[in-house]
Amino acid sequence: MSHRVAVIGSGIIGLSTAVCIARSIPDVSVTVISDRPWQETTSYGAGGLWMPYSLGDAQDPELVKKWGKITHEHLERELQSRDAGKKGVFPVTGHEFFKEGPDAHPDPPWRDVVSRFAHATPRELYQFHPHEFKHGWVFSTIICEPRRYLPCLEEEILARGGGFVRKRVGDIYRDLGQAYDLVVNCTGLGARDLVGDQAIAPVQGQVLRVNAPEIKHYYGFDDTTYVIPNTDTVVLGGSTDRVAPDTVNAATDDELSRDILDRCSAYLPSLTAVDLASSSVEKWSGLRPVREAIRLELEEPPPATSDGNETAVPVVHNYGHGGSGFTLFWGCAAEAANLVRKQLNRAADG
Ligand SMILES: Cc1cc2nc3c(=O)[nH]c(=O)nc-3n(C[C@H](O)[C@H](O)[C@H](O)COP(=O)(O)OP(=O)(O)OC[C@H]3O[C@@H](n4cnc5c(N)ncnc54)[C@H](O)[C@@H]3O)c2cc1C
Repeated sequence: MSHRVAVIGSGIIGLSTAVCIARSIPDVSVTVISDRPWQETTSYGAGGLWMPYSLGDAQDPELVKKWGKITHEHLERELQSRDAGKKGVFPVTGHEFFKEGPDAHPDPPWRDVVSRFAHATPRELYQFHPHEFKHGWVFSTIICEPRRYLPCLEEEILARGGGFVRKRVGDIYRDLGQAYDLVVNCTGLGARDLVGDQAIAPVQGQVLRVNAPEIKHYYGFDDTTYVIPNTDTVVLGGSTDRVAPDTVNAATDDELSRDILDRCSAYLPSLTAVDLASSSVEKWSGLRPVREAIRLELEEPPPATSDGNETAVPVVHNYGHGGSGFTLFWGCAAEAANLVRKQLNRAADG
């Protein structure tokens, strides 16, 4: 009999985990359950840049490097595939500029994950005169464009016989324990309510999507001003605001939109041509699911009791990816799928 696995969440983490399970575990039927379509997730509005950013204070950098490397290698394979354009996966040069010197900005642990990493030359820094950048990194990286990539994951899940259900899960055991052998929790910020995890909290980020075909590379100018090209648009950011822990919806702010455009245009003057009032400019705000550290583990069901907890099932948790969901997704999905496989094998043996 095939194993019945439910994955809760249709953002980048849920969809990629569902694909990984369907690809790597024989005889499994995967159902993705979510209370919103992927177009209404945090993942939908992200820039899709591969670069670790905005993670919890207790996050082990070695795990970020490990999951980031697996994801980068996966994206390199996607780049070499026939579907790279359809999936919105393409290489860019990344530029990260700083107003302080290298002592304040030592090389990141991921410098040897990307295929090229160098310090900016004086000429590269001087391009942005008079902004007085003292130091910078220039590196190769990859964009994985959410609005193209997420529907391709959906397509693959369906093609592999998986299904989709739209519903809010209030209690994993009660709502899913009877119908599934194992549940994977990829609910991002939703984990706060679903499993009562107080260690996860929203960090709001606002971006604009504009038409600026002259911009083909990534630029980060300080911690919050950045420009990320997508296939038909360019994402201008941004902001990182800790909001009330129980915030579930993010509204855009007009003043912040103006500020983002002004900041980005100050560095890349071609952006002064963008008309904020134009209907072609999309304003979007989302909540990064930042947890003290990403939760990626198996939770065994509690032992059976006489008062009936027969709906308890094993749960693999995979949430809390902060501002790095598109940087870590495949490494985390592969590890989650591995936990699922081991647990299903153990249940079959026992
Ligand atoms: C402005 C901005 C820009 C960003 N840019 C980048 C970038 O360039 N690169 C990068 O790596 N990352 C970026 N990120 C971060 C990235 O978007 C997140 O890390 C990622 O989207 C998290 O994915 P997720 O699948 O965990 O969560 P989500 O996308 O939020 O998905 C959660 C899913 O869980 C479902 N769900 C929750 N609770 C329940 C429930 N009780 N019952 C049923 N379903 C439930 C929801 O319906 C949803 O489908 C950015 C984020 C923001 C805000």
